[in-house]
Amino acid sequence: MTAGIVPLVPKPLVRKISSRYIAGNSLDDAVRVVRDLNSGGMSATLDVLGEYITDLSQAESAVREYIRVVEAIHRNGLDANVSVKLSSLGLLLDEEYCFQRMRELAAAAKKRSNFIRIDMEDSRVTTVTLDMHGKLLAEFGNVGAVLQAYMRRTQDDAGELIRLGANVRLCKGIYVESLEVAWHDHDTINRNYARALRRLLERGCFVGIATHDERLVWEAEAIIDDLGLDRSKYEFQMLLGVANELRDVIVKGGHPLRVYVPYGRNWYGYSTRRLRENPTMAGHVLRAFLKGK
Ligand SMILES: Cc1cc2nc3c(=O)[nH]c(=O)nc-3n(C[C@H](O)[C@H](O)[C@H](O)COP(=O)(O)OP(=O)(O)OC[C@H]3O[C@@H](n4cnc5c(N)ncnc54)[C@H](O)[C@@H]3O)c2cc1C
Repeated sequence: MTAGIVPLVPKPLVRKISSRYIAGNSLDDAVRVVRDLNSGGMSATLDVLGEYITDLSQAESAVREYIRVVEAIHRNGLDANVSVKLSSLGLLLDEEYCFQRMRELAAAAKKRSNFIRIDMEDSRVTTVTLDMHGKLLAEFGNVGAVLQAYMRRTQDDAGELIRLGANVRLCKGIYVESLEVAWHDHDTINRNYARALRRLLERGCFVGIATHDERLVWEAEAIIDDLGLDRSKYEFQMLLGVANELRDVIVKGGHPLRVYVPYGRNWYGYSTRRLRENPTMAGHVLRAFLKGK
């Protein structure tokens, strides 16, 4: 199935076949999933689903929920931090409002010695997201950024994050971007990824190596080995429900691994992005249709 067909899949079917990517509707569901991951030797990062909101009251609810997450992590003694999309806190509606909500969240996390990862969204917001990260890092110290290897600007942004001594998640990037701003060729993206990874690690940044691509895992292991890095300098990161076999291989190989655990009722946007990337999705859809569901 091509990625373009995903919007045509009926919503209930999207929900059904994407359920493995999402912990559930509630924070309790997410806490259960994180507990299981922790007992399997993995850490987690919790994401409250919701993005591109249309009303600032939704941002207010999102911040309250995120603070509940920080408190639940603390109360339950979980090995987990938090991932947040600035568009869920109103970035596209009111930048200053969003920034103040992020300050609130960073302060709440700092009180519990926790960490906020600022997810990276589409190219309209790359600059403002990195700027906000820089300001929050200077004020609170407990935030990290994300770089997308498909972006042409990524090597420049890596230079700036190196200068800041930032904690960086490196991923390929998931949004549909034009050739003007992003590389489209798979091999080029992988080479850009490996180059940025080596630069960031060589220059002392902690890197969350976010990928399910076996080749990049191999590249990363080679770089970690070449640089003689210990486990405190990096972690692998993977999405809930994706490439569990590779995940086990990485953990058994002695590497730290964090799983991205989304939960909540606003599951549609996240789910369709995951379905677009799932190479076996055509089979799932076909089977579901044949069963008449
Ligand atoms: C922890 C984490 C955080 C992320 N944060 C961001 C972010 O902030 N911003 C952003 O733009 N992107 C983010 N991403 C998404 C990322 O950019 C990629 O779109 C996604 O990870 C797929 O890229 P890949 O490196 O796994 O390589 P790919 O080449 O896309 O995939 C490698 C292999 O993984 C398997 N696979 C990948 N996706 C699926 C799937 N959905 N279902 C089943 N199998 C699959 C397939 O076997 C595939 O061949 C994040 C990814 C991870 C792991």
